[in-house]
Amino acid sequence: MLIVQKYGGTSVGNIDRIKNVARRAVRSRKQGNRVVVVVSAMSGETDKLIGLAKQVSDSPEEREMDMLMSSGERISSALTALAIEALGVKSMSLTGRQAGISTDAAHTKARITGIAGDRILEALNQGYIPVIAGFQGMGPGSDVTTLGRGGSDTSAVAIAAAIRADLCEIYTDVDGVYTTDPNMVPKARKLDRISYDEMLEMASLGAKVLQTRSVEFAKNYNVPVLVLSSFNDNPGTLVTKEDEQMEKVVVAGIAYDKNQSKITVVNVPDRPGIAAEMFRGLAKANINVDMIVQNISSDGRFADISFTVPKTDSDKATRTTEKIAGKLGAKGVDRRDDIAKVSIVGVGMRSHSGVASKMFDTLAAHGINILMISTSEIKVSCVIENMYTELAVRVLHDAFELEKPMGQEAPPAKSKTRSGRKKA
Ligand code: ASP
Ligand code: MG
Repeated sequence: MLIVQKYGGTSVGNIDRIKNVARRAVRSRKQGNRVVVVVSAMSGETDKLIGLAKQVSDSPEEREMDMLMSSGERISSALTALAIEALGVKSMSLTGRQAGISTDAAHTKARITGIAGDRILEALNQGYIPVIAGFQGMGPGSDVTTLGRGGSDTSAVAIAAAIRADLCEIYTDVDGVYTTDPNMVPKARKLDRISYDEMLEMASLGAKVLQTRSVEFAKNYNVPVLVLSSFNDNPGTLVTKEDEQMEKVVVAGIAYDKNQSKITVVNVPDRPGIAAEMFRGLAKANINVDMIVQNISSDGRFADISFTVPKTDSDKATRTTEKIAGKLGAKGVDRRDDIAKVSIVGVGMRSHSGVASKMFDTLAAHGINILMISTSEIKVSCVIENMYTELAVRVLHDAFELEKPMGQEAPPAKSKTRSGRKKA
C-alpha cells in the first residue's frame, strides 16, 4: 500500500518521540508499504513562535508570521529524516515548497490550490522515505504560507489525494475518534468508523481531532483517513464513505464548543434589508457568524436578532454590531460570553424521527435551559449556559446510549423514509 503517515505535535514532542516515529515509519515500510511521512512542529513550538512575535510587535505582519511559524515544521521534518537515516533507511525532508504544495495568498490561513506530487514520488521511487513539513505551502510570488492552526492534517490528506495514496494515517495523542470527549465523559467509546459528513460536523462543532479542512479534502477526494495514536498499537478510527450500517446509528457523537459568544440586537424595526445590512457589516469586518436566530414581536413591528461568533471575535463583533444597530434604530445590543454549544451528530438522523425532541426532553429533565437551537440534516445544536456543558454532554451521552457498541442501541421509536428530514 501507499500510505501517508501524519504525526502531530505530541508524537514528535521530543527526541525520544521522534525516534519512535522513525521506528514506526520504518516498520511500516518493512511490512511492504511505500511510506510518506508528514509532520507537525514539536508540541508547543508554534505557540512559542507566536509568543515571540507578539513580544516584537502588537500586530505582526502576516507574511512574516508565516515565515516564522513555518520554521517549526522544518525542524521536526529534518530531525525525523535524520532519525530514519539513523535506522539505516534512506530519508529526505522536504519543505512545503519542495514538496510542490501551492496555496493562495491568504497568509496564516492559506488554502491549498494544487500539489505537484512528482518530487515526492521521485523520492519514493529512489527508495527514500520523504518527510514533509506539514502546515506550509508556497503562495503566489514564492512566499511561504501556512494553512491555519492544525493545518498539518490538511497537508497530509491533500498529499495523500495528490499521490493517490491508499490510506492517510493521522497519528495524534488520542487513539481515535470518540463518541464525545473522553476527558469529560469517561464512558465515551471509541468509534471503529465514522462517515466524512459526521466527522465534518464533529470537527467544525468543536471536536479537535482533525482540522475541518482536512476532512473536506478527504471527502472530496475520497481519501480513507485512519485516526490513531503513535504511542500504542490500538486500531484507531476510520473516517470513510457512508454505508448502510452507519445509517442505522441515529447519533454517532456529541460535540461541544465553549469558545463562542452570543450577541443579540434588541428591538430592531422589522423591515426588509435589516438582516442584510447587519450581516454585511459583520462580513466586511471578517467576522465568522455561526448560528442566527430572529424573533418577531407579536405586533410584528420589531425583531430581536441573535447570533453567535467565536469568542476571539466577540469584542470586534460587538463594536461592529453596536454601530450598525445604532444606524438601524435598534434599542440596544446584548452580549453573553457564558454560553456553550452542545451538538448531537449522526447520519442516521436523516431517516429517524424523534431525535431533536429527545435531546430537548433530556436537557429539560435536567433543568438545562436552551438559549438557541439550530439543525442541519445530520445534527442538532443547542446553545446553553456554559456552566451546564459537562452535565449536558453526559446526560445526552446516556440518553442516546452512546456507550453501547454500534447496532446495539435501543431501536428508535419510529422509522421514516430516507427522504424524511425532520428530526423533531
Ligand atoms: N504546528 C501547527 C499548529 O500548531 C500545525 C499543526 O500542528 O498541525 O497549528
Ligand atoms: Mg492537530
